[in-house]
Amino acid sequence: MGTKAEETTPVKVRPQPGSQRTRRILVTGGAGFVGSHLCDYLVQRGDDVICLDNFFTGAKDNIKHLIGKPNFEVIRHDVVEPILLEVDQIYHLACPASPIHYKYNPVKTIKTSVLGTLNMLGMAKRVKARFLLSSTSEVYGDPLQHPQTEEYWGNVNPIGERACYDEGKRVAETLSFDYYREHGIEIRVARIFNTYGPKMSLDDGRVVSNFLAQALRGTPMTIYGDGKQTRSFQYISDLVAGLVALMDGDHTGPINIGNPGEFTMLELAEMIKEVVAPQLPPSVPAPTIVFKENTSDDPQKRKPDITKAKTLLKWEPKVALRDGLGRMIEDFKTRLGL
Ligand code: NAD
Ligand code: UDP
Repeated sequence: MGTKAEETTPVKVRPQPGSQRTRRILVTGGAGFVGSHLCDYLVQRGDDVICLDNFFTGAKDNIKHLIGKPNFEVIRHDVVEPILLEVDQIYHLACPASPIHYKYNPVKTIKTSVLGTLNMLGMAKRVKARFLLSSTSEVYGDPLQHPQTEEYWGNVNPIGERACYDEGKRVAETLSFDYYREHGIEIRVARIFNTYGPKMSLDDGRVVSNFLAQALRGTPMTIYGDGKQTRSFQYISDLVAGLVALMDGDHTGPINIGNPGEFTMLELAEMIKEVVAPQLPPSVPAPTIVFKENTSDDPQKRKPDITKAKTLLKWEPKVALRDGLGRMIEDFKTRLGL
């Protein structure tokens, strides 16, 4: 059961401030994996893009090709601190997303989600900007409903090691809806499911980049636990299209943005083996698997119900896992010097 109908309430669309001129769009976390692809898309579309990042997990390399373009600028800033900017839209992505990174300094992770989101919502209120929160499938925790619809309230351990991220994002969603109800801010909430693609950091720690980098380096792919847990993997270009459709559409969300193709970690490892093996130079051994102890509170299964995204945003993912891996591998090979 969900709460009232706020999940997908159609909102009255105001003409965007400055609609006669180029839209100015802030992307927090813009030097990260998702943010840098989103900056690419928006710059290419002709918007004025401000990329804000503290470079905790982001990299200058991800955005260096945009520097010097007249419609792109970068600000080194931590969203935990307030900042004054005049913008029309805010894509709020700033937050470490890989478990190894968000667990590294959990208190900072919570501050980033809570204070960072408060600061960006405050900015949205001051300048009447539209605000999109990049929330996560992790708000469903270790789900007792499968696949997960937006009405499901989730099953999160509030005192576990993942809580700094999961509960941080849940509070960020709460704040977004309170600003919407109390101040009339135009909000959009995307619940993003596991996404992969080029420009992921080689040592990001998430499963697709780990397996791919390990297979290409000739070291065993590390499966945590028995490998029977599932995830549903979305290619980055599908996510960017979904985020833009949500931002520019008429619905607050929350809306699941993910690919329902569901795989066990064993199946993922097997597929990566098949895709990588024919591309390895003779000096690199064929991919193998090693089992390691799993981390605590690891969700056992996850798969999005994307009915809302399909009907309300007219969006659905296009890239199948095998095809997406094929595209990602080229980037990883280049960066690994293969
Ligand atoms: P990422 O770690 O590559 O990018 C996060 C970016 O935010 C980095 O550039 C980092 O330096 C920056 N950042 C972190 N803390 C900051 C702070 N306090 N102030 C300013 N910048 C800060 O991760 P990503 O995969 O690109 O994720 C982007 C967003 O999407 C995150 O909010 C994440 O929770 C959400 N998301 C991603 C996925 C996914 O599979 N990629 C899934 C669900 C949700
Ligand atoms: N995982 C794994 N080996 C790795 C990294 C992760 O088996 O080298 C598993 C992890 O235990 C989890 C799944 O892959 O079950 C997805 O992990 P990831 O960190 O990519 O994302 P999240 O847990 O946030 O969905």
